[in-house]
Amino acid sequence: MEDNGVRFACNGCGICCKGRLVPLTLNETRQWLQRGHEVAVILEAFDESTWPSEPGQYAHSAQRGVDVASGDAWVRAVAVLAGNALQQCPNLGEDGRCGIYEERPLVCRIYPMEINPFIALNPENKICPPEVWEQGEVFFTDRIVDPVLDDQVERSRQADRDDAQAKIAVCEAMGISVAAWKDNAMAVYLPDRASLLEAIHHYDAGMRVSTSHEWKIRVDDPELRQQLQAAGLALDERPQVDYIFHRL
Ligand code: SF4
Ligand code: SF4
Repeated sequence: MEDNGVRFACNGCGICCKGRLVPLTLNETRQWLQRGHEVAVILEAFDESTWPSEPGQYAHSAQRGVDVASGDAWVRAVAVLAGNALQQCPNLGEDGRCGIYEERPLVCRIYPMEINPFIALNPENKICPPEVWEQGEVFFTDRIVDPVLDDQVERSRQADRDDAQAKIAVCEAMGISVAAWKDNAMAVYLPDRASLLEAIHHYDAGMRVSTSHEWKIRVDDPELRQQLQAAGLALDERPQVDYIFHRL
């Protein structure tokens, strides 16, 4: 069994701490903001038509989201809060080490493991140097071998489910309600740190997702636009927008 397993030994190169957004739980977001760092908001929406032949994939993704009204339809909206490490993580020290190692986010503890159970672990898709896959213990076979890592991945998945309502409510409190369509693009917002903290405080004070809030979808692809319009969804047609539209 071990011969088919994936070996891994992190060499501490820090490549995974640069040039990326670091997905955070809601509690980790509070801590990230309170340390004075910026958090991005990534919004995507989908419905059953996104995975016509994969109900399991839909069920998994749906647990991470919330039903929101868009035009004459309902879609599932997912918000990801992610620490801004696009240049490099603000917690990365000059010595190349994590400055908050004991309190680092779950996603940092898990990397390079996949959180989505429908995505197979493939070293070629990871940014770790090739040599780290030739050393160390087997940490993945057809499942995660290390019980600590297994627990962290499960906690990360649970946090995605537990925080889904709160993250969408926080977006609504900031007036953020345009999502991209899953697997087509991402809508990335870079909100002011104080506004995001205030919206989280509103949530902590009891604010919840509004069923009357109107959500819109941003899609450029003509065929997909036609499909979503036919389904009754409201599309964002504004020429100037307050988010980065990142096509996949
Ligand atoms: S929190 Fe630490 S481990 Fe995570 S990206 Fe930043 S420096 Fe790297
Ligand atoms: S890129 Fe891979 S090997 Fe380098 S620090 Fe991150 S997890 Fe470790």
